[in-house]
Amino acid sequence: MSVTDEPQTVDPVLDAADGDVIRIERVVKWFGDVCALNDVSLQIRDGEFFALLGPSGCGKTTLLRCIGGFEEVTSGRIELDGADLVGSRPYERPVNMMFQSYALFPHLRVWDNVAYGLKAERLSKDEIRSRVDEVLAKVDLVAQADRRPHQLSGGQRQRVALSRAIVKRPRVLLLDEPLAALDRKLRGEMQIELKRLQNEVGMTFIIVTHDQEEAMTMADRIAVLDHGRVLQVATPRELYHHPVDHFVAAFIGKMNFIPGDVAGDAIATTGLGSLPVRQPTVPVSGPGYLAVRPETARMLGDDETPATGEATATGTVEGSVFVGSQTHVHVVLDGAGDPFVLTRPRIDDAPPAGARARVAWRVDEALVFPRPQSEVAVAGDGA
Ligand code: ATP
Repeated sequence: MSVTDEPQTVDPVLDAADGDVIRIERVVKWFGDVCALNDVSLQIRDGEFFALLGPSGCGKTTLLRCIGGFEEVTSGRIELDGADLVGSRPYERPVNMMFQSYALFPHLRVWDNVAYGLKAERLSKDEIRSRVDEVLAKVDLVAQADRRPHQLSGGQRQRVALSRAIVKRPRVLLLDEPLAALDRKLRGEMQIELKRLQNEVGMTFIIVTHDQEEAMTMADRIAVLDHGRVLQVATPRELYHHPVDHFVAAFIGKMNFIPGDVAGDAIATTGLGSLPVRQPTVPVSGPGYLAVRPETARMLGDDETPATGEATATGTVEGSVFVGSQTHVHVVLDGAGDPFVLTRPRIDDAPPAGARARVAWRVDEALVFPRPQSEVAVAGDGA
């Protein structure tokens, strides 16, 4: 399979594919009566930066721990380079796990923290010295080699933990929320740093995160999980432009949803009448959502007529939020629930709260999804 921007569905039956380092086949994991992984199948390619993304409790850490050998699967297979890993101990697997807590030895210098795993493998002194020095140079910690962990910043400690994991040259590095302990600014910097480093060492990284922006910044491909199931595996771009369902569309980036009843090429809404929709490959009919990305919508001027191919809706401006590079304008559409958000590049032309507004979007850029059963029940029969 190649990385493209085409929509990709998850097939539980694996295709034989060259270049896969990890192949997860129909993995199920029960903790008592909790099903943490429900028939998960995935292939991860050699040298790939792969993210497991989803809300709290979706099963992403459990999957990472099953790959690392810290949990046994209830059923299914996990293969690494074609060999079945199920049943082997963590230390027998050519994978290394970097934990959230970093787990550094407080009494050891940075250099010795990084060398620790190699000494345990009884490598020669020369080999250890050259590998540790090489890794510390890569993560820019040569000047800190003699310090103890408490003499380092959070970002530096994170780099020591990373060095310790990659110095052993595992086939696959597993990272469980590796940036969770860092503040927002440092986190952003480390995301770029981690990506650069992964490129440089050419190792396969599998990262767990609940932060979609983080996954999109770093990963070549992302698996979105919910309730133990893989909903979609795709590149960040593919996920953003072709989410397979309402959950993925809501989880990745910002999305406006207008509820209604879909029939043919229109959605009947309560307050906005009938709006045109572009039907997806799998046709939607019945309770659904029209989904519009904020940046694909615009506000129409007072006497402006919409362009060909645009749909429009009216509402009342609730307010504007200035975020620096853009202003987010919130418009409560007539009869629709949550405010519709659209982004404008400047603050000075944002309309005041209470003003009537017309928004427009291109019909062929908007998506349509079936409404989940749970939400249909809550919403009743109306939109
Ligand atoms: P978070 O982002 O909050 O860490 P997660 O997506 O990583 O969430 P998991 O930790 O994989 O989720 O947990 C998946 C489900 O399995 C949850 O319902 C969790 O409560 C349950 N679970 C995980 N580990 C255990 C365990 N050792 N015993 C019982 N239940 C567990």
